[in-house]
Amino acid sequence: MIKTVIFDLDDTLYDEIDYCRSGFAAVAEFLANLHGTPPAERIFDCLWKQFTGGNHTRTFNAALDELDINYDDKLINELIRVYRNHIPKITLPQDSRDVLCLLSNKYTLALLTDGFLPAQKLKVQALGIEEYFKCIIYTEELGRDCWKPSPAGFEKIMQSLNVKPEAIACIADNEQKDFIAPNKLGFLTIQMIRSACIHTSTPLETGREKSLTGSTSQQNYAAAQYVIQKISELPALLENLGAE
Ligand SMILES: [Mg+2]
Repeated sequence: MIKTVIFDLDDTLYDEIDYCRSGFAAVAEFLANLHGTPPAERIFDCLWKQFTGGNHTRTFNAALDELDINYDDKLINELIRVYRNHIPKITLPQDSRDVLCLLSNKYTLALLTDGFLPAQKLKVQALGIEEYFKCIIYTEELGRDCWKPSPAGFEKIMQSLNVKPEAIACIADNEQKDFIAPNKLGFLTIQMIRSACIHTSTPLETGREKSLTGSTSQQNYAAAQYVIQKISELPALLENLGAE
């Protein structure tokens, strides 16, 4: 019988690409103010073209090259800081809010999210979702080695909520890292595949087939036990599984 549902944040409760768009807009604004020219719109267009073109690691460098703006590591680090500290303009999709509302009356909800602080905390604040969760784990606060696939954050939730693994369902999106620890711990695992999901369009995606057919122990644990396409499918799935 499922008692606790652990949610991932990015690309599970909202589309992370909306956060990226918001972050690049903040960086474009910062750069435009710093240099006076070109206008923020032109800088944003460059950043966005790089990012959506698949450059997820040197987006700033490539855009600044294209804009003919001189830069050094110090400026790049400053842009990263602006990106991670900006107040995101993101909203929780209505279907996610409806599901959190509904499930929070039936189950104890927890949130576990990887990623840099304060970015993850600012996302949670902007989405206005704190009230739904009895326990929120920012794995970064436990230490960088506690990011997924580490089980540390999940174990902390079990301790804090005093719940057994067989009573926990975990919903997340990224097969590279999200389900390994929950599967090993014996949770029910559900993959959410959102249409705008960033991780389905990155080069990392080549690992997806490997994780399904791979032979190492890590890979055997990578796939979720259930897959849904819309978060609105979650309450019925949990209901059915609870009745089994
Ligand atoms: Mg995610």
